Amino acid sequence: MSTGPPLTEVELVSAWDRALGQPAARRPLLLLGREDADRLPVGEVAALLLTTARTWAGDRVEAVLDCPACPERLEVGFAVADLLAAAPDWPHEPGPTGDEPGAATFTLRWRGHRLTLRLPTPADLEGAARAGDAAAAERWLLRACLLAADPPLDNPVAALPEVSAAMAERDPLGVVAVGLTCPGCGTATEALLDLPAWAWQAVDARVRRLLGEVHRLARAYGWSETEVLGLGPHRRAAYLEQVP
Ligand SMILES: [Zn+2]
Repeated sequence: MSTGPPLTEVELVSAWDRALGQPAARRPLLLLGREDADRLPVGEVAALLLTTARTWAGDRVEAVLDCPACPERLEVGFAVADLLAAAPDWPHEPGPTGDEPGAATFTLRWRGHRLTLRLPTPADLEGAARAGDAAAAERWLLRACLLAADPPLDNPVAALPEVSAAMAERDPLGVVAVGLTCPGCGTATEALLDLPAWAWQAVDARVRRLLGEVHRLARAYGWSETEVLGLGPHRRAAYLEQVP
């Protein structure tokens, strides 16, 4: 996986500023600074975002979820390294059969049909979100990602369970579900981790802290934002210690 050099603090603040002008679902993508971000597999985007966010927020993903059956709040935490270890090495090389021309395209045998599919992208998820309920969204994704069927399918929806399983196997960070048991009432529940949202929140908190530091040093020394950010974290911290 190529991620390029980590963003500098100045670049991070600029990316955050541009992203705030976008709808919430698009904001994490802007942190990657890649034109093709919304056309990559969802799990590849998640892996890139985890890699970016861990630079700024440390190695833990923490989420708090509501128990569906009682007022208890359930905490779930992961090491970013463990999540990344589950990700495949993007991009894939073509498979040994030559069936897989790229990272996102693969074939699946299903009841005598040869299905050519690609993995969902953030752009697909946006389209699916406009399709209606969860079942309509699934059908929308299937239509978008089923590139060919030989022989043609009368009822593509019948292949959904196998197609979903095949996608999950190839893109394990595409959908990350965790099983939880409520310590209060014992109810077992399954929650989906929204990794891009976590990455955005981590970066958002980091940038707001940085801007608070800019504010204190600008007021104390008359420096510009660029000058304060240009100090780097260690010199900035040393100056902050001098400021009441
Ligand atoms: Zn509960």
